[in-house]
Amino acid sequence: VAAAIAGPIYVAGHRGLVGAAIVAALASQGRDVVTRTHAQLDLTNQAAVRDFFQTTRPAAVILAAAKVGGIHANSTYPADFIRDNLLIQTNVIDAAHKAGVAKLVFLGSSCIYPKFAPQPMQEKDLLTGPLEETNQWYAIAKIAGIKMCQAYRRQYGFSAISLMPTNLYGPGDNFTPLNSHVIPGLMRRFHEARLNGDAAVTVWGTGQALREFLHVADMARASLTCLDRYDDEEIINIGSGEEITIADLAALMAKITGFTGEIIFDPTKPDGTPRKALDVSRLKALGWSPAFSLEDGLDQTYRWFLEHSDSAR
Ligand code: GDP
Repeated sequence: VAAAIAGPIYVAGHRGLVGAAIVAALASQGRDVVTRTHAQLDLTNQAAVRDFFQTTRPAAVILAAAKVGGIHANSTYPADFIRDNLLIQTNVIDAAHKAGVAKLVFLGSSCIYPKFAPQPMQEKDLLTGPLEETNQWYAIAKIAGIKMCQAYRRQYGFSAISLMPTNLYGPGDNFTPLNSHVIPGLMRRFHEARLNGDAAVTVWGTGQALREFLHVADMARASLTCLDRYDDEEIINIGSGEEITIADLAALMAKITGFTGEIIFDPTKPDGTPRKALDVSRLKALGWSPAFSLEDGLDQTYRWFLEHSDSAR
């Protein structure tokens, strides 16, 4: 077990869902955090990233900056997804290594696994079959990031690790209807349907797809566990270990938002991967377990949404 990192920790993407939760978790541990807004530092700009690292020289980096989105955003902006993610991660990993950073934590996603990988998916299933097509642009960029961390570890001895979280949700998520992931998308739709007194809410797909979800505060705690206690070339899955169908999620969402009307499924919209569960035994072996149940986490997120529904993205 490696010694805990001492010194400032740069969180790239601190205004995003995951980055914000990681900053909060670091602050609660009394640790020194460095952040830069997008206006201060454009992570797709190689020279700017290099300057920042040479000047600031953080002890560690958590790379939570990425272009992300749900099934619709991925199919609509494939070029943006592959380009921005490749640029951001290449610039940050290389500049961090060159500036002598002691540890880098790269955040990927469970969509890097093959569409028909055996379930629950283990870390060794990476690159054993074709990807889900809807988010292949994002997935290929993230796989390149994993390989870059592994290559820098082999060639330069750089302590870069890669974390693969399941579907995340929580306060600060993107609640715009078209580009959001399923939880914020449905939360807003059910909420508005209740306010408008609508008779029915439409849910994309058949409702039969299975997903695993993790509250972003649990993800943040897991990330810090890995920052301090995981130092290996192998990727590590981050998840709750529990699955739910989209239909059951929709029913739970109706309960939480107080919507009592009908739930309709629209099978002309894509289901995406039929099932996407992670084997989290590697993470559990580090002594971590989630604090939120899905219902408690959704409830807490809905309360946040109600308080911020004017400013929520
Ligand atoms: P994925 O896990 O990468 O497929 O990302 P999503 O969070 O976008 O979608 C998860 C599942 O929820 C898919 O099966 C979607 O078809 C389904 N789904 C149902 N309603 C919605 C919605 O309003 N928005 C999104 N994004 N997905 C939805």
